[in-house]
Amino acid sequence: MAKIALAIHGGAGTILKSQMTTALEAEYRSGLDTALRIGWQILERGGSSLDAVEATVCSLEDFPLFNAGRGSVFTHEGKQEMDACIMDGHNLKAGAVAFVKNIKNPVSLARLVMQRTEHVLLAGEGANQFAEQIGVHTEPDEYFFTEHRWLQLQEAMAEGRVQLDHAVAKPIGTVGAVACDINGHLAAATSTGGMTNKKFGRIGDTPLVGLGNYADDTCAVSCTGHGEYFMLGVTAYDVAARMKYKGLSLEDAARETIAHLTKINGEGGLIAVDTAGNITLPFNSDGMYRGYVTVIGQINVEIYGS
Ligand code: ASP
Repeated sequence: MAKIALAIHGGAGTILKSQMTTALEAEYRSGLDTALRIGWQILERGGSSLDAVEATVCSLEDFPLFNAGRGSVFTHEGKQEMDACIMDGHNLKAGAVAFVKNIKNPVSLARLVMQRTEHVLLAGEGANQFAEQIGVHTEPDEYFFTEHRWLQLQEAMAEGRVQLDHAVAKPIGTVGAVACDINGHLAAATSTGGMTNKKFGRIGDTPLVGLGNYADDTCAVSCTGHGEYFMLGVTAYDVAARMKYKGLSLEDAARETIAHLTKINGEGGLIAVDTAGNITLPFNSDGMYRGYVTVIGQINVEIYGS
């Protein structure tokens, strides 16, 4: 029987204690705590890592402070276009969606792409058509509208920049989960609204297998940060490759991967788990919303860097 393990993130970036209010911090902590409890319950009852990461990420998508599902950031055109990916490490199967609209839980749609189509990634209108065909839960635009995201877009547009959703003391964060179940099977899931003021149908690293999300029989990895650099660094798969080809431990492999990301000017972090239930959560940014459950079922939630 393997050691079950679960880790999550809610985004990495410029997160400074000096600029956080007590009330906002408490809200973030409760969002992370709730998600961890949901996933852990599934694993504890002998459920699969795939079910655990999906349910955990759904909970984070429903929580309006994180940049995924309900709290997704706005594109240049004032729309919310979401990306998500889920991967089953045991079967080496994955499903993903990119720039989908009005889908309540993009991670669940990604899982349906994996289970009900012969494809891995569906994008845009086609992905929404697929969702309609199979009767996936959608919500009107108002459900996804949050005042703070709208203000973020106005600021980003005024300053003419595409903004990683990691501005100080503002709600932030792509979300992700990685898990090892009782059978030692691994899974990873990641979901995001992408970057504020993104243009031209931009897709980030999140829905791309091996870049922002990856799982095999070595490790499961979910990334967060400036997506373009995670694409260039093939970041999620890089952790697995270092373990496989260099024989590194999960922790050393993830540390080297983040060192490489730093070298190519990328900012962000990742969470990863291996088949022995080891967990690592490295990042090179000021902070990363993150959490994990210890072997004895104790929940740990952290936000800032050291
Ligand atoms: N990686 C995501 C993207 O570039 C953003 C994030 O992690 O906050 O779309």
